[in-house]
Amino acid sequence: MATRIPRPPIARSALKAAPGRKRPLNRRLPPNWQPVLPKVSLADGKLKESAFKGLSHALVLFPASLLAGGVLPAGLPGGTLLKQVLDRQKKKATSLLRTPAVNGKMPTEPLVPEAMLPGGGLVRWLAVDPDAPVFLTQQQLRQALSGLLAEQPAQLDIVFHGSAGFVASVLPEAAYVATVNRIALPKTVASEKPAKTATASKTGKPAEIRLWAGTRDQDFLKQQLAAALVRAEANILTRALCVLPPNQLTPGSFRELVPAQIKGLGIRSEIYDVARLQKMQAGAFLAVAQGSPAHDAAIVHLSYTPRPKTTKLNPKDKSTLLPLPSVALVGKGICFDTGGHNLKPARYMAGMHEDMAGAAVALSVIRAAAQLKLPVRIDAWLALSRNDIAPGAYCQGDVVTALNGRTIEIVHTDAEGRMVLADTLTLAAAGKPDVVMDFATLTGSMTMALGNRMSGFFASEPWLAGRLDAAAATAGERLMPFTMPDDYDSALESQVADVKQCTLDGEADHILAARFLQLFVGDAPWLHLDLSAASCKGGLGAVGTDTTGFGAALTLAFLQSIAAKGLSRPGPRF
Ligand SMILES: [Zn+2]
Repeated sequence: MATRIPRPPIARSALKAAPGRKRPLNRRLPPNWQPVLPKVSLADGKLKESAFKGLSHALVLFPASLLAGGVLPAGLPGGTLLKQVLDRQKKKATSLLRTPAVNGKMPTEPLVPEAMLPGGGLVRWLAVDPDAPVFLTQQQLRQALSGLLAEQPAQLDIVFHGSAGFVASVLPEAAYVATVNRIALPKTVASEKPAKTATASKTGKPAEIRLWAGTRDQDFLKQQLAAALVRAEANILTRALCVLPPNQLTPGSFRELVPAQIKGLGIRSEIYDVARLQKMQAGAFLAVAQGSPAHDAAIVHLSYTPRPKTTKLNPKDKSTLLPLPSVALVGKGICFDTGGHNLKPARYMAGMHEDMAGAAVALSVIRAAAQLKLPVRIDAWLALSRNDIAPGAYCQGDVVTALNGRTIEIVHTDAEGRMVLADTLTLAAAGKPDVVMDFATLTGSMTMALGNRMSGFFASEPWLAGRLDAAAATAGERLMPFTMPDDYDSALESQVADVKQCTLDGEADHILAARFLQLFVGDAPWLHLDLSAASCKGGLGAVGTDTTGFGAALTLAFLQSIAAKGLSRPGPRF
C-alpha cells in the first residue's frame, strides 16, 4: 500500500477558470477546423548569385547524371562552396550519389553536404536521379530537407539546377515533400480559438517555401505545383485527423467537421445515423456501434459529380460521350478501438485512435479530387464508430444479420473493422460504381507479413491490380499485391450462420478478412487496401512523422490516372 502524502490545501481562486477564458473539460473539435498549409510559390526568374548568398535556408537540387564525369557540374548554385566542403571532408563528388545494394554490400545513401552561406544561412545540396523510384526520391528529399526544416525556417528556398525535363519531374515531388514536412500536426485543437495547423514561424507570418525553377515554362510548372499542393493537403488532412486524440475526434465530431472540409467543392453529403441504420437493418455495422453509449456512430456518404464543363465535352471525340467513370471509396473510421469484450492489452490499445485512418483517406481524397475537378464521379463512404466495451456491446457467439441479409457469427469482437465495412461496402456497391475501393487499418497479420513500410492490397481482377500498382509507384507509396484463393473460405464456415467473422487462431487473417469483405461487395470490381503502413516509426518515404497518411497520395494518383486514361477493363484476349 502506498504511503499517503498530505496534500497542501488548494486555494479557492486556483479552482476558478481565468476570467474571460472558458476551459472546457472535454475539448471538442471545432467544426470549422482546417489544416493550414505553408505558402508555396514559384519564384519569378533566375536566382542571382548575390541573392543566393543571402538566403536563410536553401536546398539545391540537380540531376545525378551531371556527376557522371566525377566532377561537380559547372554553374551549380554555391558550387565553389560545395567544392570546399567536399575537399574538407576528403570526399569525391561521386559520394553525392546513392549506391544501390550490390555484390552483397549494403546500399549507401547519397551524401547531403551542407555549408554556411556568407549571410549566415544554411545550404544543402542533393543530387537527384529522376529515374529512381519515386519512393526513394521522396525519401532522399525528406532527409535532405530535414536538417533545414528542423529550424522551422520562416522561408525555405529550393533551387533547381538542370534541364527543363529534370525540373518538371522533380519540382512537384520537392514541393510535396517540403510541404508535408513543414507543417506541425495538431496534437490537440483548442476549441476556444479558431484552430490552425501550426505553420507560422516565430514571427507570426505563415511559413513560405519558394521554388526557383529558372525561366522555364511557368504555366506548366504552376499547374504541376498546384496539383502537388492538393496532394500534400490530402496527406496532411489524413494525418491531422489521425493524430487527434480520441476524446477530441469522436464519431460525432468527425461527422461535424465534414461540412467545413467539403465546403464550396460541390460535394454532397448524407448521413446514415444509428436510427436510420436500425431501420435499414444494417446489423453488421450496428453490432459494433451498439457498444458506444454516445450513439454517435454513422456512415457518412459524400458524393462528387463533376460539372459538365470540367469534362471538356467534344462532340468529335466519341470517348467524351461515354458516361464518366465512377469510383466508390470506403473507409474504416474506428475513432477508438478497445477491442470490445475481447479487450486489447494496453500495449496494443495504444495508438488505437488512429484506427480511423481509412476514413481519413477517403475524405481527404474525395476533397482533393474535387479541388482538382477530376472528371470522375466519386462517392466516399466513411464508416465512423468506436469499438467500445459496454454492457450492450456485441459478444463472441452473437449472430448478426448484415444489411445484405447474410448472417455472421461473431468470433472476436476486435475484428470490428470488417463488420463496419461489410454494411458500408453493401451501400457503396449498391450504386454500381465502376470500382469499389476500401481502406482500412484492418489486420495485425498484414503488419506481420509486411511490417509498416508497405501496405498490402487485394484486387478482384488482375487488370485493376496493375492500374493501382502503377499509380502507387508514381505517388511514392509502396503497395504489395496479395491473392485470395477461394479455398481459404473453409476457415470461415459456420455451423450457426452464413459465415464466420474471422477465426480465433488468426492465421492468414489479412486474407480471411478480404474473403469475408468480398461477400459484401457483390460483383463490383474491387480493391481492398489493408493499411499496414498507416503508421511507421521514424516516418516513411516523403513523410517524416510516424503517422504517414499512407493511401491519400496513391489514391489521388489512381483517380488522376482514371481521369486521364479512363477505366475500361481490357477486352477478351483470343
Ligand atoms: Zn479491432
